[in-house]
Amino acid sequence: MTGPRRSVSSCADFPTYYLRLNSHSHASLIIVGHGSTVNPDSSAPTHQHADTIRCLGVFREVACCFWKEEPTMREIFESVEGEVVYIVPNFISEGYFCQQVLPRELRLDGPVTHRDGRTFCYCDPVGIHPNMTRLLLQRADEVAQGVPRDQTSLVIVGHGTSLNENSTKAIQEQVRLIREGGYGFAEVLDAYMEEAPLVSDWVQLTSAPNVVVVPFFIADGLHSFQDIPVLLGMEKEPGKALSEMEVFRQNPIEMHGRHLYYSGAIGTEPLLAEVILDQVRDFDRRHPEAGQGSAVAQVSAQQQALARWLEQGRHAIGQVVISAVDGGWELRHLDDCDSESLITHTQPEDARTLARYDAAGAFRPIKTAPDLKRGWRLVLPDLAAVRLALEFFYPAALGMALAQERGTLKPVPLRALLGRQTGMYRFANGITDDQACAILGRCCDTATKCLRRIVYPLAEGQTLSGPAAAKLGDAAGHAGDGGSALPLLCMEACNHIVSAARKQARENFEAKERADSPA
Ligand code: SF4
Repeated sequence: MTGPRRSVSSCADFPTYYLRLNSHSHASLIIVGHGSTVNPDSSAPTHQHADTIRCLGVFREVACCFWKEEPTMREIFESVEGEVVYIVPNFISEGYFCQQVLPRELRLDGPVTHRDGRTFCYCDPVGIHPNMTRLLLQRADEVAQGVPRDQTSLVIVGHGTSLNENSTKAIQEQVRLIREGGYGFAEVLDAYMEEAPLVSDWVQLTSAPNVVVVPFFIADGLHSFQDIPVLLGMEKEPGKALSEMEVFRQNPIEMHGRHLYYSGAIGTEPLLAEVILDQVRDFDRRHPEAGQGSAVAQVSAQQQALARWLEQGRHAIGQVVISAVDGGWELRHLDDCDSESLITHTQPEDARTLARYDAAGAFRPIKTAPDLKRGWRLVLPDLAAVRLALEFFYPAALGMALAQERGTLKPVPLRALLGRQTGMYRFANGITDDQACAILGRCCDTATKCLRRIVYPLAEGQTLSGPAAAKLGDAAGHAGDGGSALPLLCMEACNHIVSAARKQARENFEAKERADSPA
């Protein structure tokens, strides 16, 4: 999102030619990641690359959205304000997600989509850009410093899947580029978790005394730090997520008479932010008209609305209260209004850290859960910084609140959401209306699960009822938009509901099968 330019090292280190990326002050950049409901490491690199690009000041605003975390791919369009919106998938291949899931969720017609007076530019995923070669070489050199390449087998590891053959193409292309580029490795090969050649066969696949394994993944998630080490034989059983590990793995590991070097996922390399910009630049070359727009500096409508709401005395949103202080603004937990022993933070990005874990240290996959930890105050210089911090506390909430005020919010009926699911979730709509309302009542409970107020119907012309009805009005606690609170709205059910619906639909199916089978 829009914010003051700050000096962070990764930004300062950027080659200056990126600072001359042409005429994007009219445009928003959305980086789309997968995210996770259980692993806090999954979305971290995507956020870090967004931070790096944001501080360059090249775009009007830089935002992230996720398949499994907030904000969702529907909510993010309420949040970004550019007349041109570049969308870069932070995915490794052109596979199932980039060709089917993302265009469906983002409502894209192709590379260029015109909708609601805006232009959406769908760039290629980062993993297929030729400049990924440089990142791979850098990772290999970092993990095996001083090890002669001509005595080293470089193994690039991917997931492999039967869903889409393109998922392996990006890795095979990198293997070809490194082999033909004369980089001096004894051998370069690809291997996969779920299809041949299997990474578990690395001893037979490689011949050099040193073996460097680089996971071609976006984040250090379950695959790169839990599954692959087991497949390599480094671990007997899946370990903890990276964020829970105190000591990074030691390299090399002596195995089968070889020196095995294992690196972090390629997507955590800071230079991946450059590849994101490379994809924008390549898109502009292929579609020179699409990204055009007026380069007039515009004040954020959400920032103006926030200023107006604060003047009206609407100082609370969820569990956060905003107050004017000398030289700027202060945010703190609603229950810490009278506390004097708070830890002071000063960067909008600190809000993301504060919102990441609850007081017990557990990951908060739903940012609107009523368990934001206490004990902090966030002091910020201006409303641009406040807006950015609120994006991290409650993703897309300001945009949805403004859209609701303007009458432009387009809630998605639950049946429409469940009906458009594919892959393993394609049967999620096989639940009854009563079951749907029971799931919402259970999974969205304001006191224990989520502070948002639901504004979507069950189906067109059919409101939610039964246990779900409590989520419809100001009964939804802090999510109510009366009085001094800004609303936390839910315009489309989150993936927790889709997962619960799939589980219920499966139980329905199995119950029917049992009933239909002869005794
Ligand atoms: S569907 Fe329920 S739990 Fe999910 S974001 Fe909306 S209100 Fe919260």
